[in-house]
This record gives sequence, structure tokens and C-alpha cells, in this order.
Amino acid sequence: MEGLFHEDLAALSDLDEQSLLESLSQRFKQDRIYTYIGDILVAINPFKYLPLYVKEVSERYKYHEKSKLPPHIFAVADRAYQSMMGRLATGPRNQCIVISGESGAGKTESTKLLLRQIMELCRANSQLEQQILQVNPLLEAFGNAQTVMNDNSSRFGKYIQLRFHNSSVKGAKINEYLLEKSRVVHQDEGERNFHIFYCMLAGISPEDKDMYGLLDPTQYRYLNGRYGSEDIVRKWGEKYSEVCNAMDMVGFQEQEKVDMMTILAGILSLGNIMFEPTETDVLKVTGKSMGWLKATAGQFGVQEEELLRSLTCTLSVTRGEAIRRLHNQQQAEDARDSIAKVAYGRVFGWIVSKVNELLAPNVDFDVELNEIGILDIFGFENFAVNRFEQLCINLANEQLQYFFNHHIFLMEQNEYKEEGIEWEMISFKDNKPILDLILTKPIGILSLLDEQSAFPQASDRDFVDKLNSKFKSSPHYEVVRSHSPLFTVVHYAGKVQYNGGGFLEMNRDTIPASIRDLFINSVTPLLSVLFAATISRTGTLMPRKAKVMQKADDNFNSTRKQSVGAQFKHSLAVLMEKMFVASPHFVRCIKPNGNKLPDQVDNKRVMDQLRYNGLLETIRIRRDGFSWRPSFKEFAQRYNILLIKPDLPLTKESCLSILNTTAIHGWKCGSSRLFFKYWHQEELSRLLERMG
Ligand code: ADP
Ligand code: MG
Repeated sequence: MEGLFHEDLAALSDLDEQSLLESLSQRFKQDRIYTYIGDILVAINPFKYLPLYVKEVSERYKYHEKSKLPPHIFAVADRAYQSMMGRLATGPRNQCIVISGESGAGKTESTKLLLRQIMELCRANSQLEQQILQVNPLLEAFGNAQTVMNDNSSRFGKYIQLRFHNSSVKGAKINEYLLEKSRVVHQDEGERNFHIFYCMLAGISPEDKDMYGLLDPTQYRYLNGRYGSEDIVRKWGEKYSEVCNAMDMVGFQEQEKVDMMTILAGILSLGNIMFEPTETDVLKVTGKSMGWLKATAGQFGVQEEELLRSLTCTLSVTRGEAIRRLHNQQQAEDARDSIAKVAYGRVFGWIVSKVNELLAPNVDFDVELNEIGILDIFGFENFAVNRFEQLCINLANEQLQYFFNHHIFLMEQNEYKEEGIEWEMISFKDNKPILDLILTKPIGILSLLDEQSAFPQASDRDFVDKLNSKFKSSPHYEVVRSHSPLFTVVHYAGKVQYNGGGFLEMNRDTIPASIRDLFINSVTPLLSVLFAATISRTGTLMPRKAKVMQKADDNFNSTRKQSVGAQFKHSLAVLMEKMFVASPHFVRCIKPNGNKLPDQVDNKRVMDQLRYNGLLETIRIRRDGFSWRPSFKEFAQRYNILLIKPDLPLTKESCLSILNTTAIHGWKCGSSRLFFKYWHQEELSRLLERMG
């Protein structure tokens, strides 16, 4: 009984940070990695195999009663599925499961387990379910990489929406956020490029290798000349066949696969092209680099001279006159790297849009679909150097924290007040002001960035100076005295110093027209399609022609490309809109130590995570709060049977007489609804069951 008691930390009597930490780490030492705090699931990454996900367990958690089984990720799947089906008492039918935690905490593994269990729950075992499950290996190959934090780190965020009609799954849609494209051209010490490059090189047949013009992995600069032991290579090779299977399963055409691999090979060759300055300012490409240039042109299906020209100079048209500006060495290298990044980013975006096309629900438009969404998005980041990407990631985390606070604290407490329930307000750290600092128009950080990005002459320094002058007195902003364009944002999870260098460029994310034209004319069909297309604000690829025919109500500005910041802000807003009208489920992942080792708890690290996850405050509100709040009508309808009076009027009085026949206590009665603790719901279900 003792063990069971602490499965829900909301039931802890002596409540402080220390006891929370101790309970979690005690349980962890017994391989109990899951713990509830009310209806929030805390999951500590075991970094070892545990027999927790076998068939038997999966069966046991189907349609189970929460208090009868230990906490489990499958229990979250079950709850979401049941609520989506309308089998649990209240709330909207659409569900969203928010998984949070720092890199390596176990978010992506949890997502996969949830997906798997939800597919188990629908039972049908159709081809569609297999396809949905196959999407993961595919996306992971192209979107994950080894980092110091995590050997299989997702370098993009995703929201997977599963769509159901009644109990069966009808389709799925994936939204991807902020693929870390810079990884294609540069990786820090101890890190690698995206998995797919290594998989391809290890798994490809010798004939295909020749066909794509691939060489030994150690030759490629973008791979840092690193590869790995025989063991690792074998694993990569196995992964490659998995990816190929996934592509077949998901429905890629043979030609598309060949094109995709050829583009990847082209990216690798491109990275090896080096430039030499000459007396005349015209850059030269000689010797080995000449060979790489030829190879790249062949792989990209473009003319060698044109490729060289687009790398070594910029063509701009001013007042009808074409002006050619020669690149210096740095500019040429930047042009080379930006082609690689754009090409890779477009391949990734294309894969996602193909997947979405294929998995789109094939039902009549008037069929009502309910949804379970699963959000797996990078946790809060604070590195030695933080760039524009980190600002976006941390913004997403602020937004999620706000969503969490909103649900757990604000909504709940406001309702108590409105309903006249006696309640002592719990204080929490409201991060709305930080969101405002970044998002407000016209003077939030992102708006100021857009404003500066619109001036071709503006520098990163100008941008940071603007920030300094606008926000110097904000409590969430700190001016940094430095020659570099630095600034600090005080996030909910701590202070982060950003380096504004490159912000303008990354926010604009434009490709020179000459490069775009070069690729549009590529003889590789896929490449030409990718560059002729624009990425819409919803993240799907649209061919340019189709865009002209798009309806005006999309208010998508087709002539001016949206900045990266604005696009991200928009996709976050769309996501939040969806999430705010769904029933939320929270999974908080915790990384027990920084060494990716089993059975080790680094107390300080874990405490930090508990703190910025707001888990302590959560315990308090979950223990003291009323998480289930049916209206009188809802309650009387469902539980009138306890009085054996089906024709009871659906009023407050009826509810009270129903409740008075039970031994349930601790609930409260408001002006329009009843307030129950989270465990009351189960007590009532048990009574119903007993009635038969
Ligand atoms: P995140 O997505 O939060 O960055 P991942 O889900 O990729 O983290 O997990 C990192 C690694 O931790 C995984 O590759 C796996 O080795 C290990 N891991 C995570 N969750 C589990 C689990 N439930 N059981 C065993 N190992 C796990
Ligand atoms: Mg991940």
C-alpha cells in the first residue's frame, strides 16, 4: 500500500521540493520511472531497457481504471483515447498531449510509445495504422542527429494529429517546426550530421553508390571526415533498409527516392568545394575542388559554369540594369553553405508534405472527426552561444509554459472565484510578460527584428541597439555591455544571453534569385519542384502556380516572403488555438543525469528541472484543487441512476441528493456546477459499476 500511495505525489502530506525530489528518486531506484502528480505524468528517463512496454502490459492498460494500475505512459494514451471517444465524463472531445522536457529527457520515446498504444487501442490493424507508425523512422532519419545531449536528438519539433471517426483512426497530419538546417554544414565537437547521411553511405549497394557518385564517408567535409566503428556502420546500414522500407510503405515513388538520394549526394559534394582568391578578385576553383564542382553539378542536374557563377558572384537588377558583384572567399563559402541548407530543408519539408498527403483522412467532408494531438517539441535551451534558433525554441517553451499555467492555475482558480467557492489563491510565476516582450506588436523583439530585416543596410548591431533602447527598463530584458551584439532575456526557466550576430540573415532566410533560377531549371525533377515551390505559412509545400489560384482569405502575401520569425510566430499561434480548445494531458519528462547513464540521479539537475517545470506548484494545486467540474445537468444525467430515479430533474437539488446517498466527501457546490477532486471521478465510477 505504501508504494501505491506515493504513485501519486499530489497525495504527499509533507510537501516541499526536497520531499518531491526524494520520492521521485526513491521510485526511480526501484525502476518505477513513472509517477503521477494528480493527472500529470512525470517520466524519468531510465536510459536502459525496462520490460514496461511488452504486449501484456499494453493489454493490461487498455480501458483500465487509473488507480488500479501503476502510473504509465500507456495510461495517458488510454485516457486520451477514452476522452476522445466521449467515454469519460466531461471536456471537449479533441485531445492534446503535451510532452515537455530538456533534450534527452525522453520526449520522442514517449511520443512513439503513445502513438503505438493509441494504435493498439483502435485495434483495427489496418494499413493506415502501419503507415502512421512508419512515419517515425522516416522523419527520424532525416530530422534527428547525434548531439552531446542525446544520441538520437530530434532537430525539429513536431505536432502529430491523429484523426478519428468514432473509434477508428482515419488519418494523420504532421506539423514540423524549425528544422535545424545549420547542422547540414556544421556540427560542434562530439556531434554529427543528420542520421540519413550516415545511413545512406553505410547501407547503399555498391552499384547505387556509383550511380549517385558517392565516395567514402571520410572524404566529406560536411561529415567532419568522421564515420565510426564497424559496429556502428552496421547499425547505420540496418537503419538504411528500415528507412527505405518506410519510404515504400508511406508511398514514395522509385524516381522520387532516387532523386532524393541524388540531392543528398549533391549536398555532400557541394560541401567539399573550396575557393581560392586570385590577384584579379575573381575567385578560382582548382584541382580537387574542380572535381567536386563537376560532381555537384552532375548530382544537382545543373550546368557546371552556372553553378560556379552562382557561388562566386551575385547578380542584382537595379533600374533594369543587371549588376554583377563578385564574392570574396567568405561570401562564396556562405553561398555554398546556404545552398546546402536550403536544399536539405526543402527535401525535409517535401517529405513531410508527402506524408501528409498520403495520410490525409479519406472521408466525406461532413463526417465528424475527432482528434488526438501529440506535441513533441525541443525543450528550453541555454548554450554557450545562443542564436536566433534558440530564441525561437525558447519562445515555444514560454508559450507552452503559459499554456500549462493557464490550464493548471488560471482557469481553475478563476472559476472558483466565479462560482463562489472558498479558495486560497496559489501564486505562480506568470510568464505572460516574457511572451509579450518577444511577441507584442509593434514593439516586441520579433517585430523589431522584422523591421530591421526589411532594411538591406541594417546590421545585427543596429538591431541589438534598437532592442536595448526599447527594453532597457523591462524586468525581463538585460542590456549587455559588449562589442558583440549581445542581449539577455530573462526567461521563466532562467536567463539566456543571445548573440544577435546573424539574426537578421537567419530571419530573412532568402535565397538569391540566381540560385533559385539555377535549381528551377535543374534536370532533376524533384529539385526543380522543390525550388519552384514556396513553403506556405502552415508549413506545407505549395507549387508556385497553385498559389496564384489560392483564395484571398488565406491572407498569405504571395509577393513578399514572410520572415522566419513571423512564420514561426504564426505557426505557434495556430498550434495554441488548437490546444486551447482541446482537453490537455501533460507528460513531464525528466533527465536523471547528464551522462546518459542508467541508475544515476544527479540531484541538482533533477531539482532544476522540477523547478522550471513548475511541478511543485502543480502538486499543491492538484492536491488542493478541483480538477473535475461537471455542470449540474451533466452530473445529474450521468449519476441519477445512483438514486434509481431516471426522471430526476437536472437541478442542483437533485445533484445534492444523489451525492448525499454516497459516502463521497470533500467536494464543493458552486453556483452552476459541482467541484470534485481528481479522485472523486473514479469513486463515482466504482459506485456506478456496483449498480451494474
Ligand atoms: P528527447 O526527445 O527528449 O530529446 P529521447 O526521447 O530521444 O529524448 O530519449 C533519449 C534517449 O533516452 C533514447 O534514445 C533512449 O536511449 C533513452 N530513453 C528515453 N526514454 C526511454 C524509455 N522509456 N526506456 C528506455 N530508454 C529510454
Ligand atoms: Mg526528441
